[in-house]
Amino acid sequence: MDAEQLRECGHRMVDFVADYYKSIETFPVLSQVQPGYLKKLLPDTAPSKPDTLEALFDDIREKIVPGVTHWQSPNYFAYYPSNSSTAGFLGEMLSAAFNIVGFSWITSPAATELEIIVLDWFAKMLKLPSQFLSTALGGGIIQGTASEAVLVALLAARDRTLRKHGKTSLKKLVVYASDQTHSSLQKACQIAGIFQENVRLVKADCNKNYAVTPEAVSEAIATDLLSGLIPFFICATVGTTSSSAVDPLPELGQIAKAHDMWFHIDAAYAGSACICAEYRHHLNGVEEADSFNMNAHKWFLTNFDCSLLWVKDRSYLIQSLSTNPEFLKNKASQENSVVDFKDWQIPLGRRFRSLKLWMVLRLYGVENLQSYIRKHIELAKYFEQLVIADSRFEVVTPRTFSLVCFRLLPLASDQDDGRNLNYDLMDAANSSGKIFLSHTVLSGKFILRFAVGAPLTEEQHVFAAWKLLQDLASKQLESS
Ligand code: PLP
Repeated sequence: MDAEQLRECGHRMVDFVADYYKSIETFPVLSQVQPGYLKKLLPDTAPSKPDTLEALFDDIREKIVPGVTHWQSPNYFAYYPSNSSTAGFLGEMLSAAFNIVGFSWITSPAATELEIIVLDWFAKMLKLPSQFLSTALGGGIIQGTASEAVLVALLAARDRTLRKHGKTSLKKLVVYASDQTHSSLQKACQIAGIFQENVRLVKADCNKNYAVTPEAVSEAIATDLLSGLIPFFICATVGTTSSSAVDPLPELGQIAKAHDMWFHIDAAYAGSACICAEYRHHLNGVEEADSFNMNAHKWFLTNFDCSLLWVKDRSYLIQSLSTNPEFLKNKASQENSVVDFKDWQIPLGRRFRSLKLWMVLRLYGVENLQSYIRKHIELAKYFEQLVIADSRFEVVTPRTFSLVCFRLLPLASDQDDGRNLNYDLMDAANSSGKIFLSHTVLSGKFILRFAVGAPLTEEQHVFAAWKLLQDLASKQLESS
């Protein structure tokens, strides 16, 4: 590493990135390339001699950028957001600079200790019960994704139950969640060896905005108990992926408690909103949870990846995930005087991710972060009102956070309940390159999802997106 070379090249890269952000609206939001486009543009083998940075920048501009979908564009409304910010970006830079691999405390004490402090700060911002703090039996850790978070929670829960019922009981263990739960739970069950026929995805209630009902979960548990099975894990969601539904945490928590089950809460997207007093009630019931997860890399200005997981009792994670090979032994670990996050996660190696979260918290401050969330929710309300005002459309589920689920009403002649009509509208909007939105299906209805949450989005972008959708809808309706 030549420091002066880094300074010069780094400045050029920062200029490139700043120019990218400045001109981000000039690119099609959704990349318009065809599969395999890049193979035609790049050589078959790596260069044997070094290339110049200039040549690389040319290739980035001409060959890479066209294949990028611009998640940071203010016209990005698909899936859920994945925020970048100056603070988060600088944190990533610094983390790349140190490039530590912080599996044990000794490998970089600052990495472990900052993570503990920042996760405690965050738990206090969310008003999580004090048992989730590092000063109690619990604590927080940064995982890569919500998928990893639910997997480690599930492994801890599985092993806790197997210690009680015996290892041969694995085939009897049953997991409960709503059919609106993110597919990461299903994957976690596959990895954890939970029998597929023992994963109960209980039908959510379409009259309750697609939240699951406690009655339906209780009923499923009662049936399984009668069959000699062992209910052991309930996963509730605050802000489901399709429609931002909020499962009834207090009741599900009580059910879990009554049956000595692990209670996990997935608030990957909507957890961010709960730093605002007026949205915090969505976390009521978290007192009953064994584990709670939210993604700071979604809607919290912290560059990917940064998924926050808190547990009430860290010993369960450690019992499931710790190893102690000779080559990693050191005085601090052996004396049990430190946290070694390798024992709370799947991989050994881990990045210094707390830096970027710390920088976001310090450079914005909680009040500005709250305003940021509120602004997006106001913009989503604005979009919702625009939809309501056009009688050709309907808002399909009530909006809770910054996601609006809507659709063009089917025509009388439609055989497919408006599926093709809405698919074509989405396709036309996305292939225009002007906006990017995604879809879901609820109760058989094909629904468009408009998720506000990109950091640069302003009212003018929401209005322009709506005008585009209206114009495309008019054209479509004229031609049908
Ligand atoms: N849970 C919910 C509610 C989500 O919306 C998502 C992704 O959007 C996930 C989990 C999975 O997130 P990750 O990519 O961090 O695993």
